[in-house]
Amino acid sequence: MSKSASIIFDKSVKGRMGVKLPASQVPSVELSKNISSALLREIPAELPEITEPEVVRHFVNLSTKNHHVDKDFYPLGSCTMKYNPKINDVIASMPGFAGLHPDQPEETTQGALQLMYELEQMMKKITGMSRVTLQPSAGSQGEFVGILMMKKYHEKNGENRKYIIIPETAHGTNPASVILGGFKTRQVKSDSRGRVDIEDLKSKVDAEVAGMMLTQPNTLGLFEDNIEEISSIIHSVDGLMYMDGANLNALVGLARSADMGFDITHINLHKTFSTPHGGGGPGAGPIGVVGKLVPFLPVPMIDKVDNEYTLNFGTDDSIGRIHTFFGNFGILVRAWVYIRSLGEEGLKEMTKMAILNANYLKVRLQDKYEVPFSEGTMHEFVASGLKQKERGIKVLDIAKSLLDYGYHAPTIYFPINIPEAMMMEPTESETKETLDSFADAMLEIDDRISTDPESLKEAPITTPVRRLDETKANREPNLRWTK
Ligand SMILES: *Cc1c(COP(=O)(O)O)cnc(C)c1O
Repeated sequence: MSKSASIIFDKSVKGRMGVKLPASQVPSVELSKNISSALLREIPAELPEITEPEVVRHFVNLSTKNHHVDKDFYPLGSCTMKYNPKINDVIASMPGFAGLHPDQPEETTQGALQLMYELEQMMKKITGMSRVTLQPSAGSQGEFVGILMMKKYHEKNGENRKYIIIPETAHGTNPASVILGGFKTRQVKSDSRGRVDIEDLKSKVDAEVAGMMLTQPNTLGLFEDNIEEISSIIHSVDGLMYMDGANLNALVGLARSADMGFDITHINLHKTFSTPHGGGGPGAGPIGVVGKLVPFLPVPMIDKVDNEYTLNFGTDDSIGRIHTFFGNFGILVRAWVYIRSLGEEGLKEMTKMAILNANYLKVRLQDKYEVPFSEGTMHEFVASGLKQKERGIKVLDIAKSLLDYGYHAPTIYFPINIPEAMMMEPTESETKETLDSFADAMLEIDDRISTDPESLKEAPITTPVRRLDETKANREPNLRWTK
């Protein structure tokens, strides 16, 4: 292991320090005079003793070991790993935002409440929904909240519905949320065009169905163009339509969830509205609902009364609080800044560029890599490495080889209805040159299957660690640092 891979504690040398402070002229006081001895340490904390340049080098080196979007292209399908403008972080770090305490009285947090109120208005405009809660801290938590609201809606109507319909291509969080919410899933098949099979859907809808959860555009990057019919089939049994809005990057400014018949939608602020989100968070997954579901929303909501922003604790029908305070506030600030800096026209442009970039990349690759459902690609597409597998190289080898070219791999083996799937989402923030270099790398990898297949099986060779035993990591995770 290289020396920079060690932890900072291993670099500690007694007596080293980053800054030397002048001797204090204030008399010193024993801590135990003012603080209960039960709260004081008996042994000083074992903090690393290290010079300032060592600290800087340690963390700069660590920050480049893994791939991230500031380092290079990150076409991880469904995750919308777009570049995050630095202005977002500058504003979110302003002391008036970063230094707020969430327990402060409302009259001292009017600016923060105004920002959240305005972000809700923006989300309403983008989705066409009546009200939006900003509390959920991820898309998946938004799904869970949406399912709880569906449950409450049917219970209020004196009904005990059992099933939620999801397509076979659904993201894993969809069935997980359905089960956690106390429902069972009913799967609907895809048709030959990669969209919901309407006949199959009709055969699965009855009075026991609470609703349907559908990703729009779907996980193949295709717009569900029968959406009005799908919504009316579900509504005919008083079911509710839930839109998994993780793919909103294909819709902002062009189409609104409510207009397509959806009753609930989540929005992944950390995908569509920038915000760094590699490594699991933090995120924000606001959900918007139509009028009849507003009473069920989590509380508090923020209202504007006589130019003041106040917390509204709702009615008895609310499903209650689902996150402490207001969710991940720093992410809300970033989304607000992102939207304000692009403006309405800018957002529309963003969507169109995201669609253009995905289509460009698809066309550059499709001679060598199969794209099974290619008609109507929006912001992402799913290629299949089946032809490559027949020549002896799996999609896993292709993904690992891409790391040696300095790129993050696409999402692989998802969605599960495409064998050897590679789901690619370039996002709008990439230049034509970047897309071309990535496409060249993909085509070169395909060539190397004929000329040098062994090197592909050995990849990656340039990363800090080589191929990991992913099964072992999953089944027997060892989360302790051992020297
Ligand atoms: C990312 C994603 C989710 C889950 O969102 P998180 O914010 O990661 O919890 C759900 N559905 C789809 C289609 C996604 O891409």
